[in-house]
Amino acid sequence: MGKSKRALSTEQIHHPYRAPEGWAAIPVGVYKASTVLFKSTADLHTPRPRDGLSYRYGLHGTPTSYTLAARIASLEGAEHCLLAPSGLAAVTLVSLGLLRPGDEVLVPDNVYGQNRYLSESFLPQFGITHRFYDPLDAAGFAELLGPQTKLVWLEAAGSITLEFPDLVGLLQACKAHGVISALDNTWGSGVAFNPFEIAPGLGVDISMQALTKYASGGADILMGSVCTRDRALHERLNYTHEHLGYGLGQNDVELVLRGLPTLELRYRAQDATTRALARWMAARPEVARVLHPALPGSPGHEFWTQTSSAGAACLFSAVFKPEYSAAQVDAFVDALQLFGIGYSWAGPMSLAVPYDMSRSRALDLPYEGGVIVRFALGLEAEADLRADIEQALSVLRA
Ligand SMILES: *Cc1c(COP(=O)(O)O)cnc(C)c1O
Repeated sequence: MGKSKRALSTEQIHHPYRAPEGWAAIPVGVYKASTVLFKSTADLHTPRPRDGLSYRYGLHGTPTSYTLAARIASLEGAEHCLLAPSGLAAVTLVSLGLLRPGDEVLVPDNVYGQNRYLSESFLPQFGITHRFYDPLDAAGFAELLGPQTKLVWLEAAGSITLEFPDLVGLLQACKAHGVISALDNTWGSGVAFNPFEIAPGLGVDISMQALTKYASGGADILMGSVCTRDRALHERLNYTHEHLGYGLGQNDVELVLRGLPTLELRYRAQDATTRALARWMAARPEVARVLHPALPGSPGHEFWTQTSSAGAACLFSAVFKPEYSAAQVDAFVDALQLFGIGYSWAGPMSLAVPYDMSRSRALDLPYEGGVIVRFALGLEAEADLRADIEQALSVLRA
């Protein structure tokens, strides 16, 4: 490394030193780039398949993001994976990628709220219609499938009210009709069940996740994934992925990679705390009903026992008795000390959010009752969380 005749800045950019080979460590390197360098003009002119697997430009992927995509694909039991800058961006990728003017999408009535708004207010601009279905009624669902139905969204368990769908019945109907099924698998996260093997020979075509939740685990990252087993379907989605310009910050990718080794441990630990608290809460006199797929009597409990490997996410919802007003339930949530008030879940801190479901469901609700509070359990000790809920319930009764 002799004395250079070039200017200092030029030398800093073109310095010949390269790190020696032989580095071995557990984490994947964080490769960042907008520009990806070609070896020569011949290399530049050589066509590269637009399959989401080669390097052309930082936007389309780096060794770091391809590593994450490969690990998410294996987590989901899939072959291919596309990453998106948020869970919602992953939802949008699937719907925009597969639907064309004149097509219809079927959406479960308890679908994640932003997927509902996408179907209700954004997709109609492109001449795409939607209908809501009851995820517990596979026979009624089958009757809705028509020639214009090109995509079916599934969610297990559904958002906020946590009904577990009749996945087997719904997927059999999709298969008989030849329509593409896409599961929002954020709740199952690849741990609770394999979405591509719900029953022998029966699985979804697409599994999408908000990596924002369990994969990250830190309440600090927004990211999403779209997994498939089918190469042609993956390439169709990748075509849209490229046009939407979905880029990812590689430091965020690194943090999600860092969350993956502990994903299953966190999932199971949070599951255990959640079930214990859900059962305790169900016995409280202030509560009409607790919604959690593992609790007998919770909507879709029997479908959950059929299809899962007995895992459940860190969410339960309490339906308060009708004598408690929305204002009283708000006061209960405000009185909680350890539960933050805010969206998202599967991070370290427990959260509680009150919901008025009458405004976010088109079909009849499968339960009666008053205001709902959705609890998302974090990683605090169960006894501390229970004591906190107990003291806040005394505020509710006051
Ligand atoms: C959070 C969530 C999303 C969206 O993820 P974002 O990264 O917040 O956009 C989608 N589906 C489900 C079920 C979710 O819980």
